[in-house]
Order: sequence, then structure tokens, then C-alpha cells
Amino acid sequence: MEGNILVINAGSSSIKFSIFSIDANPLDLNLLSHGQIESIGTEDARFRAKDGQGSVLIDETLNGHGHSVDHDQALTALITWLEGRASNNMIIGIGHRIVHGGSQYHRPQVFDAELMADLEALIPLAPLHQPHNLHAVKVLAKLRPDIPQVACFDTGFHHDQTPLVRMYALPEKIRRAGVQRYGFHGLSYEYIASVLPEELPDQADGRIIVAHLGNGASLCAMHQRKSVATTMGFTALEGLPMGTRSGAIDPGVILYLLDELKMTTKEVAQLLYKESGLRGVSGDSSDMRELLASDTPQAALAIDLFVYRIVREIGSLVAALGGLDALIFTAGIGENAAAIRSRVCGDLNWLGVQIDEDSNQRKNSMINSPQSAVKVAIIPTNEELMIARHTFDQLKSQKPV
Ligand code: ADP
Repeated sequence: MEGNILVINAGSSSIKFSIFSIDANPLDLNLLSHGQIESIGTEDARFRAKDGQGSVLIDETLNGHGHSVDHDQALTALITWLEGRASNNMIIGIGHRIVHGGSQYHRPQVFDAELMADLEALIPLAPLHQPHNLHAVKVLAKLRPDIPQVACFDTGFHHDQTPLVRMYALPEKIRRAGVQRYGFHGLSYEYIASVLPEELPDQADGRIIVAHLGNGASLCAMHQRKSVATTMGFTALEGLPMGTRSGAIDPGVILYLLDELKMTTKEVAQLLYKESGLRGVSGDSSDMRELLASDTPQAALAIDLFVYRIVREIGSLVAALGGLDALIFTAGIGENAAAIRSRVCGDLNWLGVQIDEDSNQRKNSMINSPQSAVKVAIIPTNEELMIARHTFDQLKSQKPV
């Protein structure tokens, strides 16, 4: 099989993409370029892309001819640019990050009308992501109807957790309606699980906690490289405080906001998804780099709360696992913020976690000290490669290589 696989992660105002070529020998995927179109919905939409080595290929404002640029125009510009590049082969498959597969879908699947209808029915469970994920599929189906598109679910990796783990203490009627824990960041965790045998051969099948700390943040407890528990739940709001999301909150607070402060559900959603977390506490920024560089007490408080909640949730996951063999940091903050890793690990000394500060500052792949009872690693995540692999597998199962 020859050609390229396009990976799309479509959000409300940005479309991130990567393109991989299928290398015949050894059969593998090779990153050709990646980038994003951002500020969609404005007149300043910008198209940026780099090649696999990080050199800039394009960095331009998209011309909306005096109007804001919509998702359809952005995707048309992307496809035209990709197909116009001489080095690029044909796109033979498109893989999408789909935030929610519900209880029905967990394995990657080629889109057809039935799958689309079922996933559209899940929009109320992920109103900020699912509609944009699906809209991109529809636009691309119109632009290039012959290219198969594959749904890869962010919930999928958690599907095999036990019913008890996924349960909320609610009456059966409500639970039957699908109100349960799903968990997210599954493509990131699945990628980490796939490289564990190489990165941590002696602990790979042991008790592992992965801290995916980016704008969205969650933790996943794994045993035998499968998800055993995770901090996100019914929606991607639960668990840790994030860039702009509150994380876990007493449900009574929501009732109070609605009943006593007379906020509308829309206002509550805006508060919890967009105005809370690091941004809400610092009153300033959702960006960890900026908070670490700031000298305001509010920025320090936001970082204190972030670290405190991570440590407490790790304690809870250690209890679920019955111990801990390795702790792994990934995503923007997890991979880059040495100060956060250092503080989290410092607060886990009681558990036998000890890091070597020099290795931590240098961002070595292993950062635990020799006497640490728990291995501590930094593993860069690669959700795009995971989606490309799934898409490739789906194409292979349709057509022998
Ligand atoms: P997303 O969830 O949107 O994919 P990322 O995984 O890219 O987000 O993570 C973004 C977060 O990572 C931001 O808070 C950003 O400040 C933080 N980050 C990136 N680089 C650094 C760095 N060198 N030091 C501290 N934080 C960083």
C-alpha cells in the first residue's frame, strides 16, 4: 500500500493536522508535515505548517475576502495545499480524533452514515468538541468522497475498565441512560502504553500512573498496559484543574450557582469550561509557562492548587492500583515543566518517589534517582501517530497490503 495518511484534530476555532507517509520497508509511518489552522471563525485565520524536521513550510493568513474564514474554507485550503505539494503522495485515508464514542464505540472505525448518526447523538455529552470533530468529517467527505475516513475515539482506551470503576452512585434509570464515567485522553494513553515495553521494559506490565498534563489534564492508572481508572469521567471537566476547566467540583456548587446565584446553564458551562482552572484561580493566564514566569501571588496559588490536586489524585489512583511501579509525565506541562514535575514528585516522597533533579532539569527520559522505589519517566505523547496507526490498520483490513 502506498500513499499518505492525513490526521485531523478539529476543534471549535482550530484544526490541527499531521500527514504521514506509508513507508514500505520496514512497514512504518513517517511524519512528513504537521501544523494547524487557527483563529477559524475570524478574519485572521492563520495557516501554519512545518515539515517532520521542524522547518517552516507555510505561515500565512488565510484570505477570507473580508469575511471570517469558516471550517469549510479552512479544510479546503488545507487539502489544496497538501495535494499541491510535489513531495506528497495521494492521501489514501483520513484519521480523526473523535472525542466521544459513547458506550457503543471504542475501536477505531471507518465512517459511514450509521456511525455518523450514532456519534451525532453523543453531541450533548461533549458539546464543545464532538460537533467540530464531526463537522470536519462531513466537509472532507464532500471535498474528497473517495477517501475513507476513520474515527479514533478519545474514550476508547478506557472502555475495558470494570463496570464498578465506571459507575456513579446514581439510580439505575439514570445510569442506563449512559450517565457513567467514560474517561478521555485515551489516544495519548494508548500511545504511551504502546511504547512502554521499549521505554520501561521491567515495569511495562506493572502498576503505572500516566500524568497527561496539557491544557486539558488527566491521570490514568494502568495495569498490564490497560486503563484501570482515570480522573476524567462523564465529561472532560472532571478530575484535575486544567488550563481553563475547573476539574472536580462538588455537584452542590452547580446547584448553588443555578438556584441561588441565578446563573443560566450556559453561564455555568462557560464558567466551568472556560473561566476556571489555572485561568480562574490566577485571574490571568491559563498558560503554565506564563504562570511559572509570573511573580503574582495569584499565579503561585494557581500552581499550588494544580500540584496539590495532582498529588491527591495520584494517591487515589495508587489505592486503585494497590501500589505504584512507575510514574510517567507527558503532554505540554508534563514534558516541559521541570518545576511542576519536581513539586509533584517531592510531595510523593512518602510513596518512595525520588527524582534526580539534574535529570529532571535536563528532561532526560528517566528522572528517578537510583534509590527511588518508583521509576519516574518523561515520555512525549504522540496522539497523531496513534491515530495514523489506527487509520492505517483500518485501511489494511479493507485492502490487503
Ligand atoms: P493541549 O492540551 O492543548 O494539547 P499541550 O499539551 O500543548 O496542550 O500543553 C499546553 C500547556 O503546556 C500550556 O499550559 C503550556 O504553557 C505548557 N507548556 C508548554 N511548554 C512549556 C514549558 N517549556 N514550560 C512550562 N509549561 C509549558
